[in-house]
Amino acid sequence: MSAFVNVLALAVPVFTLQVYDRVVAHAGLRTLEGLIIGMAFIVIFDYALRQSRSRIMQTVALRVDVLIGRKLFNKVMELPLQTLESQTSAHWQSLFRDVDTVRNALSGASAILVADLPFAILFLGLIFVIAPAIAWVLLIILPVFTFVAWRSGNVMAAANSEERQTSQSRDSLIAEMISGRTTIKALALDGAMRPLWEDKHADNIERSILRGSKTDIYSNIGASLSMMTSIAVTTVGAIAIIDQRLTIGALIATNMLSGRLLGPLNQLVTQWRTYTSFKQSVERLGEVFNSPSERQESKVKLVRPNGEITAEHISFSYSEDQQPVVDRVNVTIKASGVHALVGRNGSGKTTLLKLLLGLYEPSDGRVLLDGADISQFTRSELARWIGYVPQECVLFAGSVHDNIVNRFPEATDEQLIKAATAAGVHKFIIDMPDGYATEIGEAGSRLSGGQRQRIAIARALVGDPSVLLLDEPSSSLDRQAEQELRRTLLDIGRDRTVVIVTHSPILLAICKDLVALDKGKVALAGPAKEILPRLFGTPPKTTGRKETQTSAQQQPAANPSADTSGNPQTESRK
Ligand code: ADP
Repeated sequence: MSAFVNVLALAVPVFTLQVYDRVVAHAGLRTLEGLIIGMAFIVIFDYALRQSRSRIMQTVALRVDVLIGRKLFNKVMELPLQTLESQTSAHWQSLFRDVDTVRNALSGASAILVADLPFAILFLGLIFVIAPAIAWVLLIILPVFTFVAWRSGNVMAAANSEERQTSQSRDSLIAEMISGRTTIKALALDGAMRPLWEDKHADNIERSILRGSKTDIYSNIGASLSMMTSIAVTTVGAIAIIDQRLTIGALIATNMLSGRLLGPLNQLVTQWRTYTSFKQSVERLGEVFNSPSERQESKVKLVRPNGEITAEHISFSYSEDQQPVVDRVNVTIKASGVHALVGRNGSGKTTLLKLLLGLYEPSDGRVLLDGADISQFTRSELARWIGYVPQECVLFAGSVHDNIVNRFPEATDEQLIKAATAAGVHKFIIDMPDGYATEIGEAGSRLSGGQRQRIAIARALVGDPSVLLLDEPSSSLDRQAEQELRRTLLDIGRDRTVVIVTHSPILLAICKDLVALDKGKVALAGPAKEILPRLFGTPPKTTGRKETQTSAQQQPAANPSADTSGNPQTESRK
């Protein structure tokens, strides 16, 4: 399309040339009539071509949006958690803006410009045919323009990526401030936040002004060069006319053609920002698309496992220069029963749970489920077999029903109610006017911490997983709910493996086995009956007020679970 549009663009200068040299010079009205009829066809044809070209561009935009957008979403979902955690949330958000940049560059004026550029040769060729006496002026100007465009490209690329970095760091701060708005309000942290925000905002403005002024320099150089070209062409042309080597019509046509020739080059200087953003966006998207995904397909479909988990000398550290957070842990958690993982804050319990769940890949050793290395399974298989209640229960905007069954949309109402009842949240849900259809607000903000935690437990129970990993499941629960959870876990633990990270004596009392971690290493492991007295002095009592004595009797030296920094839960029990 662009080829035809550009060929047709030659018609107007040729028409002008003919009008000056044949019609005006010889009063050739018949020639004029013929020329006008020809030009009318050309205008109609040109309009139809341009219109079709715009349609094609729109289709391109739509396809880019749909295909790359979908592909990026799928890819981000397939990335391992470690990769996702290695970048800020603003980085991942900006990738979706990169899709917009790619779409705009591929379907907007800049793409048409690229398609038009090669046809500059066509215009130069025609100038050589109609006005060879002045064509050499353009031969000198062309490399100058190309050099300016190339320089502006290099300068713009650096300025653009600096501006992006500062805007990303500002966006990260905003995202953090918005998600921590309650804390900011409660502690009146606005004073502390303001200088941070102003710093980042000022940095971003400074970069953007710098980039803007660089753009201005090059676009103004481009405009000056265009003017100089017109002056040079007209001057050299006038001399050639005086010397009878050129006609007036040819000079006017050459001026028009040089405008068409230099127009795209001039635009290239100003549009370079679009190209550098496009290039950088494509590079970033390419990096994400080329980074390894989690396993998407497992060779053999395994039946539901019994739930024996083995950590075989596993080690893990968050970065290469850090000490291992989990250090050669070697434990076997037998199928069925409730098992506990205890240890001080920061001893690596949560990290170990994530390794057992396959969220992180151990740097050494392996995790086995019923004797099979879990790295051969896909994330969705593992999620089906291993239920997980994280320390901070994240729910999503939507109804209670959707939040509980979103892992298994095919779950029946019976399964849903069974899971909610087991998690001790069914009565509370049906007590609300909309019951299971109640909207819980953004990230479950309309619920209390305890309600959110219980819904997260119900969510983990749907689908009947063989293993259930719970990270501090009673941290937001009241005493009664904790007792209910204790009964639930005992019940679930009859035919499933339940592993809990907890400091709660109520939950510890029902554990069959216990693993105590200290600085990422297994300090003690074995039957709870034997380990608990070594940790707490006497086995914790499960009911009644006297259970509170356990934490008072902790022996910090031999007690990895004792929280000497004053764990609030421990304090409250005192
Ligand atoms: P626990 O659950 O026993 O309190 P964690 O497993 O959460 O301990 O953390 C163990 C150690 O790993 C801590 O020292 C913590 O600083 C570090 N850690 C936890 N998460 C990350 C992370 N995403 N990046 C870097 N270090 C982390």
